[in-house]
Amino acid sequence: MTRREALRRIAALNLWTLTCLAGRGEGVCDMSGIKDLPVSPTTVPVPAGGAGMLAPSGGPPLHRGLRVMVFAPHPDDETLGAGGLLQLVRASQGTVRVVFVTCGDGYVEGARNHYGRAGLAPKDFIEYGRMRWFETVRAMKSLGVGNGDMELLGFPDAGIHALLSTHWGAELAYVSPHTLMSRPPYPECRDTDIRYTGSSLSRSISDSIAEFSPHWVVLPDPLDRHPDHRAVALFVLGALSCLDGSQRVQVESMRILTYFIRTSPFPASPEGARTAGAAGHSAPSAVRVPLRFALGEKERRAKEQALLHYTSQQFLLSPVLSRFVAPFEVFGQVEPVVVTDRNCLWNRLPATG
Ligand SMILES: [Zn+2]
Repeated sequence: MTRREALRRIAALNLWTLTCLAGRGEGVCDMSGIKDLPVSPTTVPVPAGGAGMLAPSGGPPLHRGLRVMVFAPHPDDETLGAGGLLQLVRASQGTVRVVFVTCGDGYVEGARNHYGRAGLAPKDFIEYGRMRWFETVRAMKSLGVGNGDMELLGFPDAGIHALLSTHWGAELAYVSPHTLMSRPPYPECRDTDIRYTGSSLSRSISDSIAEFSPHWVVLPDPLDRHPDHRAVALFVLGALSCLDGSQRVQVESMRILTYFIRTSPFPASPEGARTAGAAGHSAPSAVRVPLRFALGEKERRAKEQALLHYTSQQFLLSPVLSRFVAPFEVFGQVEPVVVTDRNCLWNRLPATG
């Protein structure tokens, strides 16, 4: 697969997502959508069964040896969206790998809250990002996820969408307006020499997937309202579309799940995608019947405790904690054929030029 082809596919996915988002407000980076997240089992329109996919407990069976890879745009997304699932996989003697695309070093409101002042220098944002990474390590440890089960890519927070749209090629490295860096400044990163470009992020994600060889890949929902979340979803789906059998990864048999952080309405259902698509184009049913995993008291308590390790984010998390620490976690599913079969998605999209 050439770079041009990979970019074309990602651009096609991006266009599809933007089409789906038509009329919903674009690029809004706030927490207002959270009010639509579930607060009790009865508020979530999850079917009792879906195409024979759901196990009696509500989710597909977990088993020994299952390899589950979770992608997080920022620290805490993995716990908010999949903190329960991470525990369930480990309890079933499966293996998890959590990949953090950024360490949240471009979150201006959070950094100002942390330092208690408005004027911040690039070194402050780097220090803030490093501090958030240490919070992440503690949070993951509390869920039994060790350093060897985590990866930090260290790409620029609040810049992932720009990598996708305007800074793809090697000649177009992105410079974070917060850290003023064009490569990861953190020694904990997977590759500290890598430049901030879309192609390098795509390659990092592909390499991570190929190395871990997951059975399941869990990513933010492509219809999430946060630009970074949406862009990470597109990068992961695009990376999956670029993998082939020679890399030990069988995408055709992979389960691709999406978690919901800033998605409204909730969940991002096939019905929602079709409704949005009716405004202009026919959106494919990439996200099908939602899945849910029941969480017991033990998992809920551990998820809550893990989120409390994100000390710097409590001003944001506290008001919404109870909405995420629910008796279940819900995921959308993306059909593997969406990323493996050109006839499924790509040929149904308008030309991207
Ligand atoms: Zn996030």
